[in-house]
Amino acid sequence: KDAAEMSLKDIDQLAKSSFPLCMRHMLDKLRENHHLKHGGRMQFGLFLKGAGLKLEDALAFWRAEFSQKIGSERFDKEYAYSIRHNYGKEGKRIDYTPYSCQKIISATPSVGDHHGCPYRHFGEENLRAALNKMGVGGHTLEEIMDKVKNRHYQLACTLTFETTHGVSCDSGINHPNQYFTESQKVLRA
Ligand code: SF4
Repeated sequence: KDAAEMSLKDIDQLAKSSFPLCMRHMLDKLRENHHLKHGGRMQFGLFLKGAGLKLEDALAFWRAEFSQKIGSERFDKEYAYSIRHNYGKEGKRIDYTPYSCQKIISATPSVGDHHGCPYRHFGEENLRAALNKMGVGGHTLEEIMDKVKNRHYQLACTLTFETTHGVSCDSGINHPNQYFTESQKVLRA
């Protein structure tokens, strides 16, 4: 199978093995609330597109969650357009690019939003818990929290990548899709 293609049924497993924390968090929240606000749909939707989720699968993915809350009719009416739009199939037909870490870190999520960068936007306790859930603890966790305190969010994410994959990532993490690709490279090797 082409490494640049993501199939619908693999999303949860890929999230566990290869999504950066920002995208894991949004998948969790989407599964939990069957909804994501605009900022989240953009950040997560474009990431999934960049990771190889095809338009038809993207529509099925969002519809499956949203319809549990608002029904599939309302989903088709109110949300399907913006998903096709992200894929350049509506409006000005621009093929939108997934957001970089820099852009995500400089976002200003409000209450009820789940986009943004956890290293930048989570409180300390939540971040520690989220990292624990990824199997990060002990000395490495303290090192990561140190980077966060010094506002080196991408370095904190890089360190997380390195410790969860057991490799060094000399280029550093600068894009969630780069995180995903590098992870798949390591795991498929
Ligand atoms: Fe996502 Fe980038 Fe933040 Fe990592 S540093 S969690 S990839 S935005």
